[in-house]
Amino acid sequence: MALRVQKYGGTSVADIGHINHVADRVIKAHDQGDKVVVVLSAMSGVTDNLIALAKQASETPDKRELDVLLATGEQTTAALLAMILKSREYKAKSFLGFQAGIQTNKTSGKARILDIDCENIRQALENGYIAVVAGFQGVDKDGAITTLGRGGSDTSAVAIASSLKADVCEIFTDVDGVYTTDPRICNYARKINKISYEEMLEMAILGAKVLQIRSVEFAKKYNVPVHVRSSFSEEEGTMVVNESSDMESVIVSGITCDMNEARITLKKVPDQPGVSAKIFTPLAEAEISVDMIIQNTRSGGETDLTFTVTKDDFERAKEISEKVAKELGAVHILTAEEIAKVSVIGLGMKSHSGVAATMFQALASENINIRLISTSEIRISCVILAKYAELAVRTLHTAFGLDQKK
Ligand code: ADP
Ligand code: ASP
Ligand code: MG
Repeated sequence: MALRVQKYGGTSVADIGHINHVADRVIKAHDQGDKVVVVLSAMSGVTDNLIALAKQASETPDKRELDVLLATGEQTTAALLAMILKSREYKAKSFLGFQAGIQTNKTSGKARILDIDCENIRQALENGYIAVVAGFQGVDKDGAITTLGRGGSDTSAVAIASSLKADVCEIFTDVDGVYTTDPRICNYARKINKISYEEMLEMAILGAKVLQIRSVEFAKKYNVPVHVRSSFSEEEGTMVVNESSDMESVIVSGITCDMNEARITLKKVPDQPGVSAKIFTPLAEAEISVDMIIQNTRSGGETDLTFTVTKDDFERAKEISEKVAKELGAVHILTAEEIAKVSVIGLGMKSHSGVAATMFQALASENINIRLISTSEIRISCVILAKYAELAVRTLHTAFGLDQKK
């Protein structure tokens, strides 16, 4: 008998037919004698629709109330699945975030889980219930409803799995595992059978939205075995686990593409100590995280500074930068065209050289100009124009020998 946390994403609960199909899978596990906790997303498209509705109500919707609104998407699917299970004579109970004991900080829209007390769920399981939890939501210390950021149901599931010490956290989605790159961009992408937390974390950070970043951080920290698999087939998917010797010994294991960044350049900034601090401190104070930073020294004691932020933070970052640029006497701010960040990721990079050269040559062979470069121990990222993103991904996939054999 195992304790399984099963998370179903938006496309897996898109309508009543799909939710009935989820019920079949949950019942199958339950009938085998497993204890099952189900974590659900909202029906696909619902969160986007709710955001659009909020924007009709107010140009800048109040963040607290937006969370109250967005949480209803997951409330709906949790109630529907619990109803279906009960109508099939199974003991089931739905739990909203606060009932599942998910305590978060107060950062509306991208709250962090601070603590989780699964006593209610544990008791329900002991009494033979199937627990159905609304993903994506929690509660802050003052009782306000919070949401965990886009894709946050993954994090709800992993957090619950870690708190319950579940045997596995199954992430059911619309692809049958983690691939070497987004299978919707590259037909030759290959399914990875086993991937380390470290590589999966880089892939998530760099744009593979199959798992939310925080869910992988959580899984890594608490050693939760995560199984990413399809809700439409019985096939084994991808296990996300600690690095082990039986993992495929490849130098590059995946390619990602992130279209969610924007670039800001400050021109003719005085090249003096303390200037970077003056630019980036107010951004940090506004909780804007800056990703890539490049400084080009010019002649005459001036420098150009370029950095990237997420598109969500772009307008605020631009406002803050304009203000600081004025104070510093910088000449002007450029906010560039649509960009994409393509990255190659692999643990093998720790011990192999030449990956950057192969990447640059591959992009050059398609005449794709590189605007920014950044590296870490296990990845290299290049910012390019967005219109070349898909071509770049496919070219790199081939260049690193990742294409599926036909
Ligand atoms: P869900 O609604 O189930 O949470 P998501 O849309 O959040 O599903 O994540 C699944 C999607 O992630 C896939 O449809 C796929 O297009 C995308 N994706 C991006 N990169 C990868 C990758 N390397 N492997 C698998 N899927 C990926
Ligand atoms: N419904 C939320 C979203 O669309 C959370 C999730 O699906 O994980 O981002
Ligand atoms: Mg998702």
